[in-house]
Amino acid sequence: MEFELTEQQKELQRKAREFAVNEVLPVAHYYDVKNDMAMDVIKKAWEEGLLNLGIPKEYGGPGYGLLDAVIITEEIAAACPGIATSIFDNNLGAEPVVIGGSKEQKERILGELVNEFKLISFATSEPGMGSDVAGMQCRAEKDGDDYILNGSKYWITNAGYADYISVFATVDPDKRHKGICAFIVPTDTEGLRTGSHIPKLGQRASNTCSVVLKDVRVSKKNVLAKPGRGFVLAMQTFAHTRPAIGAFAVGCARSAMEYAIDYTKEREAFGRTIDHYQAIQFKIAEMYKNIEAARLLTYRAAWEADQGKDNNISSACAKAFASDVAMEVTTEAIQIFGGYGYIKTYPVEKLFRDAKLFQIYEGTSEIQRIVISRHAMKRYEHGMPNLYELPSKDIYEELEEEPSQAERPSKSSKELGGKYRCTVCGYVYDPVKGDEDGGIKPGTPFEDIPDGWVCPVCGAEKSKFVKI
Ligand code: FE
Repeated sequence: MEFELTEQQKELQRKAREFAVNEVLPVAHYYDVKNDMAMDVIKKAWEEGLLNLGIPKEYGGPGYGLLDAVIITEEIAAACPGIATSIFDNNLGAEPVVIGGSKEQKERILGELVNEFKLISFATSEPGMGSDVAGMQCRAEKDGDDYILNGSKYWITNAGYADYISVFATVDPDKRHKGICAFIVPTDTEGLRTGSHIPKLGQRASNTCSVVLKDVRVSKKNVLAKPGRGFVLAMQTFAHTRPAIGAFAVGCARSAMEYAIDYTKEREAFGRTIDHYQAIQFKIAEMYKNIEAARLLTYRAAWEADQGKDNNISSACAKAFASDVAMEVTTEAIQIFGGYGYIKTYPVEKLFRDAKLFQIYEGTSEIQRIVISRHAMKRYEHGMPNLYELPSKDIYEELEEEPSQAERPSKSSKELGGKYRCTVCGYVYDPVKGDEDGGIKPGTPFEDIPDGWVCPVCGAEKSKFVKI
């Protein structure tokens, strides 16, 4: 177990923070109000080697692990979650190529992204479908070695500026996940059209738009995943990109907390600056501990991916938890600022709007909870014995009077048919002791208790008992 960042990671963090403070922060408010993509900043990120973080060294990229990527991402998101989303979107767009591309595709596409300032988007969502990836309707029809794409994609980050889009489509919507395939589509392909920038509540500096595909021909060399494999590829991509959403959320929450702390030291109420009040101190404490926990979950999810482990559950935990933390922290930051938190002169109002998207994109918070609960309730291996198989020692044993020696049956509980537990309240019937108040003599096997007897603790009927 090692919680310390390596020297190289600390250096990356320092570099990313410098970029965030010098290049992103000064224009964050401007692009938010303008509702426009910060292309100049994204180009600078490419020049600084902060775009395409996940492209392996053998294809000319920096070959950062996901842990490195989330360290960088937190810093940029702390300055502007919207610009961070657009910067990280190249990782999302390129990830299906990194995971599922052929050597030729990797050399061609990833090589181009490294050598030229190019953007690549990721397109699964559609006007009528988001988290239900298997429910997509965009059609891919085989035509010789080529595929012809027809349909609409929606909510596509950076699509209005992208050079490539990793497009997911289905050969047959009725086949659900088995029909889904994936393609690399250059955006200058005939028949591909992007819509106008969708005006959003937050993360307004990040371009989001529709992609309409009308008889778009994709040649064999740009087929990334054949039918069925596309769904797996999308899920693998999400497992690798969800930790980054955790990092966006941590960065966003962190800067909201920092600004709130600064404010409490200047604002006065009832004769003192408000940092003196416990009501404020406790809000800051909540923020701080939750941000710490969110960051640890995020690091863990990224670390698992870097170790080649299945990080599906850890990334769902990180994404869901950190997103909620960002929403709570930015909400409380506004509360600390009072009226000043609700206006655009201070940055917390923007962070609050930006934070909401974390709970929605890349699989909603509800989808993450479905993933987590399925794991917890079906596959998760328990450390404790089953509740209904717990050893019979119960609190009443200590409290109840033991039957006198004369009354004590000579047989053991086991010889008398064993103990039974009430599945409603947890009371254990021990045949050695019987149930005197209920008229059951010591030495009475559970099976011999007459019908009509009820649990002496909760009153549940005999049928609610199980043998332990
Ligand atoms: Fe009971």
